[in-house]
Amino acid sequence: MLYRDNAGLYIHVPFCSSKCNYCDFNSYAGKINLAEDYFKAMIKEIELYKENMKDYIIHTIFIGGGTPSVVDVRYISRILEKCRTEFSISDNCEISIESNPGTLSTEKLKVYKNAGINRISMGLQAQQDKLLKFLGRCHSHKDFSESVKNARDAGFENINGDVIFGIPGQTLDDWKETLEYLISLGINHISAYSLKIEEDTKFGVMQEEGALVPVEDELDREMYHFAVDYLSKNGLKQYEISNFAKEGYECKHNLTYWKCVDYLGLGAGAHSCLKDIRFSNEVSIEGYIDYLKGGEKPVCEKFSLELADKMSEYMFLGLRLTKGVTGKEFFQRFNQDLFVKYNDSLKKLENKGLIEIAGDCVKLTRLGFDLANQVFVEFI
Ligand code: SF4
Repeated sequence: MLYRDNAGLYIHVPFCSSKCNYCDFNSYAGKINLAEDYFKAMIKEIELYKENMKDYIIHTIFIGGGTPSVVDVRYISRILEKCRTEFSISDNCEISIESNPGTLSTEKLKVYKNAGINRISMGLQAQQDKLLKFLGRCHSHKDFSESVKNARDAGFENINGDVIFGIPGQTLDDWKETLEYLISLGINHISAYSLKIEEDTKFGVMQEEGALVPVEDELDREMYHFAVDYLSKNGLKQYEISNFAKEGYECKHNLTYWKCVDYLGLGAGAHSCLKDIRFSNEVSIEGYIDYLKGGEKPVCEKFSLELADKMSEYMFLGLRLTKGVTGKEFFQRFNQDLFVKYNDSLKKLENKGLIEIAGDCVKLTRLGFDLANQVFVEFI
């Protein structure tokens, strides 16, 4: 039988019903009228990648955004169907879809289920409705619990909840309450991110005008440590800097990124990495559609990865995982000794208490997780 590599597939849906105050993702409010042309363009994009993908079997698909659940379900079904026609998709492929609470009706969930989607990712962000309002989210915490119930009724058991800590005005008690709420709902995967205030967002502007004061680092770290300990006590082990899961529910798609497995990204602004070539798509919805109307792949940036790039990526992505990286895997991949190649950096980081080396394995310490960027720059 012909040998085929594993790959992941990312599908970007850039539409949102409104723009959240902290969001710098490639997402747009008020452009849903472009959805028909957008998905037609994506059908063409899939056809254009048929040849590139013939050496791969896709084991994970992630439909992200934006808010994929705001578009007509038929678009999602059509895209997945087309992927099945043109690409090889494994029988037990993990297929996730991102959604916002309040946008998941039982009918919609049934269509997702029939289309083969088996994992629902939902953004709760915070349990307190006043914080949700402050973040510019268009749902309440009740919408979240209702959507979880709808998802379960439709037969989904693999459900992720996204939450944010370090929100200005959020107390440690608010954060505890948010995590307790997720645990009480029996969620089996949680992604917990520290709020970063980015320049071109509403919060960025507010900060510049002095109308928003970011939380102190100390409180941010206290919240993070609370999450790591509390979630672990409740059966959701940390497996990556920001990700926690019950055993067997780790997100396989995100693991493909951290383990440097090839992936194809479809849609506006999507990134890909296939056979040591990294490339990304035109960011605007209109520009993306135009490329494909002209029969062209919508690629606007492309570069080849040299061996040194691949090794450094392997290190800083692999170290995001609590399991860390091993000399054995590094050797299998690059035919080089990890401990010789990075001898100086490893010693320096170990002396600073940022990593620990146990036998063949290198991983971040608790301090290393707090200061992960200091570790990663050592390998760039
Ligand atoms: S729903 Fe998500 S993608 Fe859309 S604006 Fe809010 S944070 Fe951004």
